[in-house]
Amino acid sequence: MEYVLVSSCLLGNPVRYDGQGKLSRSPILQRWIDEGRVVSVCPEVEGGMPIPRPPAEITDGSGGALVLIGIARVVEKGGRDATTEFIDGANEALKKVRAKGIRVAVMKEGSASCGSGYTYDGSFTGTMIRKTGVTSERLRQAGVIVFNEDQFLSAETEINRLELASAA
Ligand code: SF4
Repeated sequence: MEYVLVSSCLLGNPVRYDGQGKLSRSPILQRWIDEGRVVSVCPEVEGGMPIPRPPAEITDGSGGALVLIGIARVVEKGGRDATTEFIDGANEALKKVRAKGIRVAVMKEGSASCGSGYTYDGSFTGTMIRKTGVTSERLRQAGVIVFNEDQFLSAETEINRLELASAA
């Protein structure tokens, strides 16, 4: 069975910066839970951040790739540098992936950790940019296919394809 990594907040866990969850009502996700294939991760909490916490963005319109090579930083609204926690969280997610041989993830879009299609530009003005968050970038570099919460069907298709290929 293929396991799938899922952002903890999408499971309804109150781990977001504002102390809330972001429960997904996807029937596909519910089926995966019932099948026991979901592995949950909140990179920010597992990287050492508290709940609640200030929102954080990657600086200067950069993405997770530049954070991982030490060029860009992750900064909280208010100015505290949270780069270390974000990288630690990405590494915790990678450990889970390696422990279970995970090849597919569904991660919360827009987050400086979990975003896979967009993040915010570091100005805290709600300006979206087509960049990947720190954890999703780490996962992609490790070969994991990362989807967002609007792409459960595509993620399921990929899991089915991988299981068929493994069975062949
Ligand atoms: Fe945690 Fe990612 Fe959800 Fe943010 S988006 S609360 S880092 S799981």
